[in-house]
Amino acid sequence: MQIRTFDITGVSVAIVDEIEAAAQFYGELLMGKTLIKNLKIRLVFSKTQGNGATWEDDIARPREFTIILEKGMSKRETFITLAHEMVHVKQYATGELRDYMSDSKLQRWRNEKRDWSQVEYWDLPWEIEAYGRERGLYVRYVEHVKALKFVDSLKKSA
Ligand SMILES: [Zn+2]
Repeated sequence: MQIRTFDITGVSVAIVDEIEAAAQFYGELLMGKTLIKNLKIRLVFSKTQGNGATWEDDIARPREFTIILEKGMSKRETFITLAHEMVHVKQYATGELRDYMSDSKLQRWRNEKRDWSQVEYWDLPWEIEAYGRERGLYVRYVEHVKALKFVDSLKKSA
């Protein structure tokens, strides 16, 4: 997975240092190594745009994405939001979720192609999945970092 970070001015160093590693970790858990190999992700920090993930290259099973993360969130919020947006990347990259050029109201979720614009945001199945998984992904990332630091400390004390 190729990840590039943009507009990091004003973003805390603690976030910038780790954000690409976290995106990589989430991507691997969600999609596996083979699929993420071909993904390109632009992580853009923004003061004016809300959080979100959009595909850039192709409407069917896209491989290039932009993730917007709002500036000013805490590190924890930023990493949980990143996990949420990576779930949307997974949904588009695997074809579970797709948009249509012909009609922007139409979307297909798994096998259900319909107008989802009348469905409440919180009832959208792709949001239910993203909110449902964001915390678990984040907790596993934190544990992963702790484990790495522990191994590191063993090496240093050896
Ligand atoms: Zn969402």
